[in-house]
Amino acid sequence: MMRNELSENAKKYLNFLCLELPTRQVGSQGNRTATEFIAKKLAGLGFRTECPEFECIDWVTEGAALTVGSKKFVVYSSPYSLGCEESGVLVVANSVGELENDLYTGSGKQRSGKLILLVRGELAKEQLMAKNFPFYNPPEHQHIIQLLETFKPQAIIAATSRNPELAGAVYPFSLIEDGDFDIPSVYMTEDEGNRLAQQVGKTVSLVSRARRIPSKGCIVTARKGADQGLRIVICAHIDTKPGTPGALDNAGGVVVLLLVAELLERYSGRLGVEILVVNGEDYYAASGEKLYLQINQGKLNQILLNINLDAAGYIHGNTAYSLYDCPEGLTPAIHKAFMSQAGIVEGEQWYQSDHMVFVQNQVPAVAVTSEQIVEVMSQITHTEGDRPELVDPEKLVNIALVLKELVFDLEGRLA
Ligand SMILES: [Zn+2]
Repeated sequence: MMRNELSENAKKYLNFLCLELPTRQVGSQGNRTATEFIAKKLAGLGFRTECPEFECIDWVTEGAALTVGSKKFVVYSSPYSLGCEESGVLVVANSVGELENDLYTGSGKQRSGKLILLVRGELAKEQLMAKNFPFYNPPEHQHIIQLLETFKPQAIIAATSRNPELAGAVYPFSLIEDGDFDIPSVYMTEDEGNRLAQQVGKTVSLVSRARRIPSKGCIVTARKGADQGLRIVICAHIDTKPGTPGALDNAGGVVVLLLVAELLERYSGRLGVEILVVNGEDYYAASGEKLYLQINQGKLNQILLNINLDAAGYIHGNTAYSLYDCPEGLTPAIHKAFMSQAGIVEGEQWYQSDHMVFVQNQVPAVAVTSEQIVEVMSQITHTEGDRPELVDPEKLVNIALVLKELVFDLEGRLA
């Protein structure tokens, strides 16, 4: 396949995923259209393609409003939260200690009426991992969630600032993003939070027009080469957060999967190749990841190596790859393949994507991302600014060529 043909396809796929679909949020029609599109392409290239489904929720909101008397405050429905129409006395908690105090001795215990809780400061500095998120779940987050559920206010208002590591570049970020947490919640900027905190003890009215809609999504697995024995799994997540075109996060990765599949159209080696479209990296329940593990339970040792693509192809800087628990027998082939194309360097360790699902299950992995990942996560990730102009199709082509080389090299080394 000619390079310019790959480049043209890269642009075409990128624009389709980012611009023609309204969203690729798990559970949405756009997400299903995207997985159908990919599955059809992969099957057309001769891959044995399957689309196992999972249950999930689609989530929509028609906005939220908060008033105290004649004063209005700007708030946003927390993704996946229940909607509400509530009035209650405003109580404020700035720290875990304050929340505990309120709960056992303070306003929460003494007042019998309805309360609406504003959480801010120390208590709202990091997005809380969802209750049932399986891969990373710090006890301090779970402790806060338990306190909130015990407190059981009518609704929660979170005033937040920035948290690029867990919430990407959005400001303010939603403190709670959890379809299993059933106290309605909204979020607002730190400044609005400062203004609202002055209204403590007054009655506030909150409306959040959010809805959970039972829905379905799927992952796509597509295999070529030997069906038995060892295989390489090349994956990228197709889902986005609500409200972002998700070009870097992670249409670019999905485009690489399609290009690799095109390059391997005639592949029939002894090493199995599995292209895996994951669905749930940006979803509170990581449903696609969980489903993949469930399907492969007891069989993950058949995976020689996982390659995960996320936030790759950024127009600025090099592409960066990093190794996780790769045995010595594999590393020369990996380095050789990644050195074979221009603009690719070995980068820092990075733990915030789907390769960790494999690493945590003793499968060696390689993450492919952008060298400027810190800049991407603090300025672009999860925002409406994550647009295709920020992705260089030539970088995606280079990664695809590396992966083709790696597949053939590893296949050649199989005894
Ligand atoms: Zn991502």
